[in-house]
Amino acid sequence: MTRIYPQFVVAKFGGTSVADFDAMNRSATIVLADDHVRLVVLSASAGVTNLLVELSEGLESCDRMDKIDTLRTIQYNIISRLQRPSVISKEIDHLLENIAHLAEIAYSTPCSSLSDELVSHGELMSSLLFTEVLRERGAEAQWFDARKVIRTNSDYGCAEPIVSQVAEQAEIHLRPRIEQAIAITQGFIGSDDAGHTTTLGRGGSDYTASLLGEALQAARVDIWTDVAGIYTTDPRIVNQAQRIDHISFSEASDMAAFGAKVLHPATLLPAMRKNIPVFVGSSKNTAAGGTLVRRETENPPRYRAIAVRRKQTLLRLHSLHEQPAYAFFAEMFAILANHEVAVDLLTTSENSVALALDSTGSTSGEDHTLTTSLLTALSSHCRVEIETGLALVTLIGNQLHQETGVCRDAFSGLADHAVRMICHGASDNHLSVLLPGESADSAVIELHRRLFE
Ligand code: ASP
Ligand code: MG
Repeated sequence: MTRIYPQFVVAKFGGTSVADFDAMNRSATIVLADDHVRLVVLSASAGVTNLLVELSEGLESCDRMDKIDTLRTIQYNIISRLQRPSVISKEIDHLLENIAHLAEIAYSTPCSSLSDELVSHGELMSSLLFTEVLRERGAEAQWFDARKVIRTNSDYGCAEPIVSQVAEQAEIHLRPRIEQAIAITQGFIGSDDAGHTTTLGRGGSDYTASLLGEALQAARVDIWTDVAGIYTTDPRIVNQAQRIDHISFSEASDMAAFGAKVLHPATLLPAMRKNIPVFVGSSKNTAAGGTLVRRETENPPRYRAIAVRRKQTLLRLHSLHEQPAYAFFAEMFAILANHEVAVDLLTTSENSVALALDSTGSTSGEDHTLTTSLLTALSSHCRVEIETGLALVTLIGNQLHQETGVCRDAFSGLADHAVRMICHGASDNHLSVLLPGESADSAVIELHRRLFE
């Protein structure tokens, strides 16, 4: 029977929420508890994407076997708990064979489109298994290939969705499904014009959920993870971190952009465009509640949260020639633009520019920003200094540029640290400092103690 679901909810489950049979079962209970959930977006089971990324980097035969055995064990631990394992085991075997085949090619002739094809198998497997778990619990569930809808450019490893195409394809392929059944699909993966599989960058399943929520005008997007919401800082660093019950889109998206791991940084963009509230909660403990992210909150506080982003690189460029600062800056930014370097923080003095570069995010791992061609181009105009292994600590709040005492508060918490760079002023709502990576935790602990406890 076809019903119309104008008020439907997208539920996304992260890797720990589909890690094994028991986790899948708990997630299935969440789906079945709310009639409005008509679309489920899944990550790969915990650990699977890391294994696939290693395989995609090209491993020798015996290391390959090891990883594939581990992958098989994860899948079969789930399959063996099903009532009718044979319904699904053939399909999973087929995907495992594919993985072995692609991993062999990755060893002899690695390439980025092949990596994405390989890495996508994690989500393909978890979504097939979860569909079966739901069916065994009596639900009408249909597996759906997200690549039909999530159309992207061809930046393998960190592809950009083409929003208008996603909307069009979702209306054609996905809308009819959610009206008939609960559709189960993969996060993180998409396809380009040539029909090749792409991925949206590590943690990209959240982004898929909100893109599909936007495309189909969902009433809400629920992100189920292993923490009961968004906290004032990472609770693994600070025990006293407090859960935030309501937070605005802009505060939460600043947190994600500056490294809070709870949401993929792009997740809130589609939700903001269509004003769709996003709920974040723990699939292990639904009773603990969670955080609701929405357009506005009452009484936004001066300080909202502290985020930390690791693996940062500081690039300092010193002019070699006698030239006006504007000419030097123009030259530097032209080179950076030609190399598509995303600079997110910078400070300048008369003949120098310091830039913080972020090398987290892409599936293809390491730092691809500092290419030889970029460094060669820069070196012909300036002396280049590079420092790696830094961490960016960001204090996020509201209207910080208009408040007095912000610098006193921030700097007193950083009194014992060697600060490499400070950025404040361009944004109304955050202040960032770059520190040696090893001192980030103690800086966060001290700042949190002073400003939040
Ligand atoms: N499985 C992918 C990852 O581990 C995407 C995700 O979980 O959101 O990065
Ligand atoms: Mg995640």
